[in-house]
Amino acid sequence: MPAPRPASRLRVLTRNAALGPLDYRAPAEGVPVGSVVRVPLGPRELHGVVWEAESLPAGEVADAKLRAILGPAPVPPIPASVRRLVEWVAAYYLVPPAAVLRMVLSVPAALDGARTVTEYRVSGQLPERMTEKREAALSTLGHAQGLVRELAEWSGVSDAVIRGLISAGAIEPVTVSVDRTPPLPDPAFDPPTLEPEQAAAAAALVEAVHAHDFAPFLLDGVTGSGKTETYLEAVAAALEEGGQALVLLPEIALTEPFLRRFEARFGCKPVQWHSDLRASERRTAWRAAASGAAKVVVGARSALFLPYPDLRLIVVDEAHETSFKQEDGVPYHARDVAVMRAQIEAIPIVLATATPAIETLAQVTRGRYRHLELPSRYGGAQMPGIEAIDLRVTQPEAGRWLAPPLVEAMKTTLARGEQSLLFLNRRGYAPLTLCRHCGTRIECPNCTAWMVEHRLVKRLQCHHCGLVEAVPDACPECGEEHSLVACGPGVERIAEEVSALFPDANVALVTSDTIHSPAQAKALVDSALAREIDIFIGTQLITKGYHFPELTLVGVVDADLALKGGDLRAGERSFQQISQVAGRAGRGEKPGHVYIQTHQPEAPVLAALVAGDAPGFYAAETKARRAAAMPPFGRLAAIIVSGPDEAQVAATARAIGRAAPTGIDGLTILGPAPAPLSLLRGRFRHRLLVHAARRADVQGLIADWLTRVEVNRNVRVTVDIDPYSFV
Ligand code: ADP
Ligand code: ZN
Repeated sequence: MPAPRPASRLRVLTRNAALGPLDYRAPAEGVPVGSVVRVPLGPRELHGVVWEAESLPAGEVADAKLRAILGPAPVPPIPASVRRLVEWVAAYYLVPPAAVLRMVLSVPAALDGARTVTEYRVSGQLPERMTEKREAALSTLGHAQGLVRELAEWSGVSDAVIRGLISAGAIEPVTVSVDRTPPLPDPAFDPPTLEPEQAAAAAALVEAVHAHDFAPFLLDGVTGSGKTETYLEAVAAALEEGGQALVLLPEIALTEPFLRRFEARFGCKPVQWHSDLRASERRTAWRAAASGAAKVVVGARSALFLPYPDLRLIVVDEAHETSFKQEDGVPYHARDVAVMRAQIEAIPIVLATATPAIETLAQVTRGRYRHLELPSRYGGAQMPGIEAIDLRVTQPEAGRWLAPPLVEAMKTTLARGEQSLLFLNRRGYAPLTLCRHCGTRIECPNCTAWMVEHRLVKRLQCHHCGLVEAVPDACPECGEEHSLVACGPGVERIAEEVSALFPDANVALVTSDTIHSPAQAKALVDSALAREIDIFIGTQLITKGYHFPELTLVGVVDADLALKGGDLRAGERSFQQISQVAGRAGRGEKPGHVYIQTHQPEAPVLAALVAGDAPGFYAAETKARRAAAMPPFGRLAAIIVSGPDEAQVAATARAIGRAAPTGIDGLTILGPAPAPLSLLRGRFRHRLLVHAARRADVQGLIADWLTRVEVNRNVRVTVDIDPYSFV
């Protein structure tokens, strides 16, 4: 038997992924497990969490060599449920526990005691010496308030320029309290009158909140059926109990419609958590979540890792969205981790969607998730009629992308004073720029990708690494002038066509280039509801969450796009995407109509959409997955080898391939092979794909396998468990 650990010894997990757990000496009065502490490491000071020693093994350090902790941080302890979540995520996704803890202690500034921060804003006083940069900064900043770094970033000048303006008195300091208590949402503020089906679903959710036990639900309601109103009743139940609730949304652009709905229902806004928060807001939000003062948090996937002390409910809205899968850092799926957190917390979780993932439906079939259905739209609104336009038969005019029936329908919609939406999931003007003289395609030097023309800003942009270049006058290869031609449409090109067709219409482009903050989403919703927009043209950003009652026509410009590439989920994804965008039409009193432009109307996905046969589509898709033992009927994991030296990367990938386990039933390994995206941000990439039986211990197998391969320091090996991306 090992000797009992002296009570004075503490095991501490830090936020530093390169470090394992470390031992420290506790002060005489002891430190409770879960406490956030400051510890010394060499000359540095780190934050860490006191952990159960038995769940995090570490190399023993002799008592005499132990250093003392520096002291506790003035924040509540990290709850046991969060510690178990950290361990689970680390084990499941094969990442160091410290990398997961980093997502919990995501705001280092929130861990110190200081209760105020200094932010800055334009004072109104002009500096004695005015320069071009100073003038530009002052005019772009307006009423903005933030840290020096933030002001510099927003106004596109250097920190030094901002500091200069501070010394000159043109920008003044403001002391901001970081511990403002968020307003308390009132569950009785304005409850809706639910329709019978909504009421039945809400009752089941409310009962589950009161039962204080793990209970996963699929809230499966057609677009416009009132899923939000329904799950907000469960949020109300959590509030009545005085506990916390978390609502996860897949994109920050969706928070605006949600915030409006929430405020109307509960009388104030919830606490928000997303990448667009200012540093002080982030700190306030973290502290409010950790103290329990934030009763409802709405946020992006990382909100899942906040240390709520009293969580009673999790809602994952638009639960089918693949953007819940994080691709860099710790590659986790927020939907799956949310279910695990609910299980650890022993609370209900609601996955709300009109187009469930096959994985989620399989859990319903297995009897693990309860299925709540809302089969019709709220208030008697009808589902839109869906019609395919066969582009092989009915072609747009030369050099155009919209076929006559769609243009005709847009004309009538406009004449009636109603709104139309065109959906094309391609940012920019054209996906490819080609030299008409020598045939060269303009590619990104850092990635296996074409540079995409963004005509509005007159730039070529790589959508993978973000590289931006001027559009050259001559072909970079053969030098021929004015020889470059744009091939294919992006949303900007569609906007150009629409402006030519309907010069008087007000057109709004909705893409991540135009809407990347909640404030921009708010402006969009405001002008849409004020009828200042006649035609929306958007990427997937416009396909979900919005409720514009006057929007009656939807056109899918290229329904074949999502089916290309042909990965495991291509069919499912097209079905979801087109159903979602179709679901924007006819949500008010006026009926909606949807046109789908395609070269293959006979494809099962499109045929099912036109026939309104979702069950048929799901049945066929599920059958195909089962036959191929693909998820959720089998398991996948990807091993990605990357580095700046192609030969080294290839050699490591081959060594991993040679060390692969053999003789395991149902296990197949594809590759190694260069990834389809074989160069990304200047790093060469090779991939292996592991396909195993559903019950196989894929993690154990891969962990053991990779220990048998020596990896050069310049090469990185990443494991992606349950991958969604295959490029
Ligand atoms: P979904 O999320 O299912 O697409 P929403 O929750 O957006 O549907 O509901 C569609 C519209 O109907 C929204 O404007 C919503 O406020 C309204 N609505 C739904 N249910 C009710 C209700 N019971 N009472 C009042 N309005 C409702
Ligand atoms: Zn690139």
